Amino acid sequence: MRWRPDTCGCVIDADFATNTATSVVPCAIHAALTSPPAIFEAVRAENTLKNHAHGATLDDAGLAVNMPGPDGGFTRRLREGIEFAWFFDATRRLTVQVRGASAADLARLESALALSLGVGRVKVEDTGAGRRG
Ligand SMILES: [Zn+2]
Repeated sequence: MRWRPDTCGCVIDADFATNTATSVVPCAIHAALTSPPAIFEAVRAENTLKNHAHGATLDDAGLAVNMPGPDGGFTRRLREGIEFAWFFDATRRLTVQVRGASAADLARLESALALSLGVGRVKVEDTGAGRRG
């Protein structure tokens, strides 16, 4: 399966069932890594981290709500006016920005991420943008 992660420009052909990369075209960021398996591992780790941060944001009751799903269940959606953004800095540290969130919302999210991933693993940046209350 061809994978174009949204966290960098790598193009990876991989068997996700066996965690094996068969072909890797590295992006500029990951070109310094020595082997396709090392690149695959690094890219997956970054992508998983970003997905985890997004998931934690959706799990937060102050930032997201349950919406009825087609199967009678529900899906999580960010509240009206809340936007999730993220980027990796030059050292590949993940920063998340949650526009529209209050300072308390951001502190709560940062605590949840520190608890699940370790302190300082993900930076929660307060841009003050779109602040509600
Ligand atoms: Zn890459």
